[in-house]
Amino acid sequence: MPIHEKSLIRPEDLTEHEKLEIDGVDVSGHWSTFIETRVVSDYNERMEEEIASLPGGEYIHRCWQCSSCTNVCTVNDLNPDFNPRYWIYLARMGFEKELLRDKDLLWQCVSCHKCTHACPRDVVPEGVMKAMATWAELKGHTETSPSAAFDAEFTEQIVATGKIEEGRIIRGFFKRTGQPLRQRWLMEMSLRLAKHLPILMGLKMALATLFRPRTRDWGKSQAAIADYLVEREAANRRALNLD
Ligand code: SF4
Ligand code: SF4
Repeated sequence: MPIHEKSLIRPEDLTEHEKLEIDGVDVSGHWSTFIETRVVSDYNERMEEEIASLPGGEYIHRCWQCSSCTNVCTVNDLNPDFNPRYWIYLARMGFEKELLRDKDLLWQCVSCHKCTHACPRDVVPEGVMKAMATWAELKGHTETSPSAAFDAEFTEQIVATGKIEEGRIIRGFFKRTGQPLRQRWLMEMSLRLAKHLPILMGLKMALATLFRPRTRDWGKSQAAIADYLVEREAANRRALNLD
């Protein structure tokens, strides 16, 4: 019997016979496609709980596998292996090893939230993707991803000044990830921006890059956010039994 959703099965789990005849019937090629039998014995029974305990993962249990998230996903459109629905299934079943086969894809969510708007169960799949990537990182399965490096740079700047200055964030992000500042796309974008940006706004942005303004009376908020981040980090580590 042909497999209609062949794209959802990993190629190494499929066997196809180029030449095969059964009871006098030619079943060569895709007519003889079989899925390899497999036995899963090493579940991580706490996996759903672990991901649910990280920020964004709280509603993973609501998923009913309708695939609306994957259908609208921006990254899935470019790479069909990026499949939030499937990864949520794996996490809920405790199939840790299977999920880790895609560990280098998990962080590639671009946080567009299309999945969140499409989800009929309010799972907030964008949050679940974030929680999964954090989970993989905290457990030592992946290095710090570019996405996490960007978040760290963004957070540090907010904590320090209470403001976001895009130029500084981009510079900091490139430095953290070892990328050169001179990148073709960035030069092109800056040139286009310079052409269309009102002069006063451009001047304001340039001054903000140079002088790093702070939000007035930022001290108390800064201390509260800094405390929260320390508490959150400790809570994440406790949830995954890392201490
Ligand atoms: S937020 Fe992430 S998972 Fe959701 S649609 Fe966008 S890229 Fe896909
Ligand atoms: S759209 Fe929501 S309910 Fe449907 S598979 Fe995705 S997360 Fe699950």
